[in-house]
Amino acid sequence: MIVSIASGKGGTGKTLVATSLVLTLKESLPVTLLDCDVEEPNDHIYMRARPVHSEPVAIPVPFVDESQCIYCGMCHDVCAFNAIAVLGTAVLVFKELCHGCGACTRFCPVGAITEVPHEIGVVEVGDADGVSFVDGVLTIGQPMAPPIIREVKRHTGTKGLTVIDASPGTACPVVEAVRGSDFCVLVTEPTPFGLHDLRLAVETMRELGVPYGTIINRADLGDDRTERYCQAQEIPVLMTIPFDERIARSYSRGVPLVEALPEYREQFFALFRKIQELVK
Ligand code: SF4
Ligand code: SF4
Repeated sequence: MIVSIASGKGGTGKTLVATSLVLTLKESLPVTLLDCDVEEPNDHIYMRARPVHSEPVAIPVPFVDESQCIYCGMCHDVCAFNAIAVLGTAVLVFKELCHGCGACTRFCPVGAITEVPHEIGVVEVGDADGVSFVDGVLTIGQPMAPPIIREVKRHTGTKGLTVIDASPGTACPVVEAVRGSDFCVLVTEPTPFGLHDLRLAVETMRELGVPYGTIINRADLGDDRTERYCQAQEIPVLMTIPFDERIARSYSRGVPLVEALPEYREQFFALFRKIQELVK
């Protein structure tokens, strides 16, 4: 089973949920944790993961042989991302904008374009005390998260449970991370911002056709509008976590919730059982 953990908004406790779920279940079944928050991966801190090896991730970008180029402009015309420009007798490639789609190479009428790898980050494969742990790290300044997320997801476990920690928000990296999951847990908080971003995340899940439910973190702060929204939309609230200074303090020291407060283990077992019921 693949369960992704997402949130419309950063700082809602997504990593806290992903790591606690994995650490609770690791004695019961094979577990893989994929940290697909490639712009800011931090699950390794809580999992105390040991890297075993890393794999560079590159996308193919065009290289123009100007001795063959006839400066027709076709490569620019077919590029949907404005990543290649023809200015008089010069062809400029903007690697940072290139999505590696290959269209310019395919449509160049004289075969002047070849593709060269452009490294955009790495995938780190490791072990965290019995949990298969993989994360992706996007090189600073690179905007292309999806290819790294796809590489991280190639390490999805073949047995047991794979938990995917997606990046916050509802943009392409989240879609790439959650796509293909059996279930998605949306972590939110009961504030107007939390509710606004939850609505967007729900729309994204509906578009993707992935079943989902919510966890309301710091549930006793804010108001009850998030709960009322979930009731009205028939979205299962799988768990609530109250605001607790002990959680905030241990989290800031890099200690996972279920290690700091082991009484939460039973709640994470119950969470998994609810998810199993909902995906049947
Ligand atoms: S499509 Fe090929 S020939 Fe035309 S401008 Fe681009 S690189 Fe040059
Ligand atoms: S590979 Fe695709 S995105 Fe990159 S420059 Fe060519 S057409 Fe544009």
